Amino acid sequence: MTSARTRTRMIERLKSQGIVSSEVLGIMGEVPRHAFVDEAISHKAYDDMSLPIGHGQTISQPYIVARMTELAIGVAQRERVLEIGTGCGYQTTVLAQFFKTVYSIERIGGLAKQARERLSTLGVLNTRLRHGDGSRGLPDGAPYDVIMLTAAAPVVPEALIAQLKPGGRMIFPVGGEIQELRMIELTTDGPVEQRLEKVRFVPLLPGMA
Ligand code: SAH
Repeated sequence: MTSARTRTRMIERLKSQGIVSSEVLGIMGEVPRHAFVDEAISHKAYDDMSLPIGHGQTISQPYIVARMTELAIGVAQRERVLEIGTGCGYQTTVLAQFFKTVYSIERIGGLAKQARERLSTLGVLNTRLRHGDGSRGLPDGAPYDVIMLTAAAPVVPEALIAQLKPGGRMIFPVGGEIQELRMIELTTDGPVEQRLEKVRFVPLLPGMA
């Protein structure tokens, strides 16, 4: 169930869901999503759903990874991206195929450690992983071309805009029970916000665990 045919079916489904970037479709057909979840559920890895990754967290469904990546690679330069919420490292790995360096921060130590091991096994080398609270971003790699939150911020994380390059994009889910995917672009006229679609993410939480 992790065969080439299963992946092809996922790509066909992503197209029918409105993903148009051939770059994103190509890479998502290559990255072995089943390697990012527990073996016991790896047969579901390419299905249209989020899956548990332990510690009460989830790997996002393929559609949302594709959608957010499509938005991310639309920036002028693909140099540095910050992901807040490494989780299992799947989105990190997808981003690593497009950007020179991916910075990613995870608040749960167990997940951060597992992701580090997994990425090293897979030979994904252009990433800088951190165990920490990413609520205030990560100054190490700032300014970034893209900041992507993979956990829902309770309110628009405006302070993070300071870590974006001019022309950069912040892609983030915001809300509590009801959440929305949004993008803020730092234009020459200042930050411009777009509201995209309804989504469902785990919450962005303060502190380390
Ligand atoms: N991109 C991940 C999605 C994981 S779910 C993937 O592909 O698997 C979101 C992750 O955000 C969880 O692992 C959660 O622990 C983490 N998270 C929540 N609040 C955070 C914070 N303040 N700083 C860093 N990570 C956080």
